[in-house]
Amino acid sequence: MTIKQRSELDEAIERATAHGVEVCGQGRMRANNERVYVVPSQRDQTHWHLVRLVGGRRLVCDCEASQRGRICVHRAAVHMHLVVAAALREAAAERVTRALEQESRDIETRDRAEAEAAAERDHKRDTAVLGRSNAPFSIWR
Ligand SMILES: [Zn+2]
Repeated sequence: MTIKQRSELDEAIERATAHGVEVCGQGRMRANNERVYVVPSQRDQTHWHLVRLVGGRRLVCDCEASQRGRICVHRAAVHMHLVVAAALREAAAERVTRALEQESRDIETRDRAEAEAAAERDHKRDTAVLGRSNAPFSIWR
C-alpha cells in the first residue's frame, strides 16, 4: 500500500466516521459464498450499497465512487467493521486462553492439595497415636 492509498483510506475512514456510515447487514453470496456487507447510501437513505469481500482480501463496492477507482466510505466502513471484528475475535480468543490457563492452574492446585492430603492420611495411618500427639490421655478410660 502506497502513502497516497493510505491517506485515501484514512480520508474515507474519516468521512465514514463523520457521517456515521456503518455496516448495517451482512451475509454471503449464494453463487460463490463470498462475504457481502450492506452499507447505507449517504445520498439516499432508502438505498444501500453492497460491498463484497472478493478472494478474502479485496473489498468491491457497487457505488459510483468505487467504480471510478476511489476508496469510498462504504468500503471504509466495511474495513473498520472487519478491523473491529478481528479485534473482538482476538480478545475473545485471549479470554478463552486465560480461562484455560486458569483451569490448568486450578487442576494443578487441586492435584497438589489432594496429594498433600493423601500424604497426611498416610502419615497419620503409619504412626502410632502417641507418636503424633502429645495430648493428655488416661489409661482408665
Ligand atoms: Zn461504495
